Amino acid sequence: MFDKILIANRGEIALRVIRAAREMGIKSVAVHSTADADAMHVRMADESVCIGPPSSTESYLSIPAIIAAAEVTGAQAIHPGYGFLSENAAFVQIVEDHGLTFIGPRAEHIRVMGDKITAKDTMKKLGVPCVPGSDGGVASLEEAQRLGGEMGYPVIIKATAGGGGRGMKVAHNAKEMENAFYSARSEAKAAFGNDEVYIEKYLTTPRHIEIQIFGDGKGQAVHLGERDCSLQRRHQKVLEEAPGPCITEEERARIGKICADAVAEINYAGAGTIEFLYENGEFYFIEMNTRLQVEHPVTEAIFGVDLVREQIRVAEGLPLSFGQDDLQINGHAIEVRINAETVPAFAPRPGKITAYHAPGGLGVRMDSALYDGYSIPPYYDSLIGKLIVHGRDRREALARLDRALGELIVDGVENTVPLFEMLLGEEEILTGNYNIHWLEDWLERTFKP
Ligand code: ADP
Repeated sequence: MFDKILIANRGEIALRVIRAAREMGIKSVAVHSTADADAMHVRMADESVCIGPPSSTESYLSIPAIIAAAEVTGAQAIHPGYGFLSENAAFVQIVEDHGLTFIGPRAEHIRVMGDKITAKDTMKKLGVPCVPGSDGGVASLEEAQRLGGEMGYPVIIKATAGGGGRGMKVAHNAKEMENAFYSARSEAKAAFGNDEVYIEKYLTTPRHIEIQIFGDGKGQAVHLGERDCSLQRRHQKVLEEAPGPCITEEERARIGKICADAVAEINYAGAGTIEFLYENGEFYFIEMNTRLQVEHPVTEAIFGVDLVREQIRVAEGLPLSFGQDDLQINGHAIEVRINAETVPAFAPRPGKITAYHAPGGLGVRMDSALYDGYSIPPYYDSLIGKLIVHGRDRREALARLDRALGELIVDGVENTVPLFEMLLGEEEILTGNYNIHWLEDWLERTFKP
């Protein structure tokens, strides 16, 4: 059993892990940059260590600083949260080389899934349905155009090392391919230092459906149903819900079993998410995230389980605390991401919070590291909170979201709360009838000059 763990992250996710640790009787160590000296995660942890200047490359991404912090505080394990070092296989190796435990999957699984081509290959071999596309990387424009012709346009050019919606371009014909191919390559090079790209059939009206899985690292695994994350702008999720409004119980059981069997087969350890596009009743694998997701609370709400606690238990070598039959869906949950950003441009707006009041009451959860007078630093992600509501059904969850948004006060910086208030007036949101393009189209219609 661990008695102290270090959290290599900041913001709401650091609080999330501190809370789970405290309930398990485990002490927590926060790390922070100089810009985060007054941050909530520093105040809430049992101990804290300053690991560097504001720039994340010199602090939250500095492996030597984080390992040193774990060693001086006597932490036995490191939880990476999401983002930062959470999907860095080299980091996992270094953590283990120092006799510490990484709370997450093994380095080899992170490595395989971090490269989208090997991920797709692996999943295909494990019987998971994939989006039709190139076999591996596409090195020249000629090859890209030939594949486009064979597959039929539109196609999407994606970075092998991709993430965060970057390095993705759509081409509707051979002529558009030229621009799309070269710009995807240069974006990939700039963002990931690797310009390899591959090509997939571009699905025109899919939903984004992802399956939460959990493995014990010893060949046992379960699934915790799906989340629908189709409301996106620039390929970034904005609102997530579970269960998916369009997924039937039979479909859930079928795709869930495929996913759980696949990760059991490779002895996967801990939490993971297998992402699919879903169109005309078919699932098409796009990628796997080998970590906790931002939107994990909607799954926790409907299954009544603590996924972070489970991650820590699996890292301690314990068996899963639930079997597939123990996992029954109860009601409906929705999460909205509150970002310090303008609407509709989504430009970051760091600054001082002049008033903050979190909503409460039955079925309302606010995961946020904000407090009155807090200054949001300009150096990091603009996510400042997640509001999660849970109701007996989708209609009750929507009413609760409306009510909770009405109670929430985030003053001082522009943020995405007004966007959700507007969305709740839209027929497609109320009926759940939207796909991955709906939000972008709505933004264009609604904010057209
Ligand atoms: P990232 O790792 O950058 O988030 P993903 O592969 O997860 O990239 O894709 C992110 C989003 O991009 C998807 O949720 C979807 O909206 C869109 N997308 C990706 N692949 C396709 C495709 N083949 N057809 C249509 N949209 C796609």
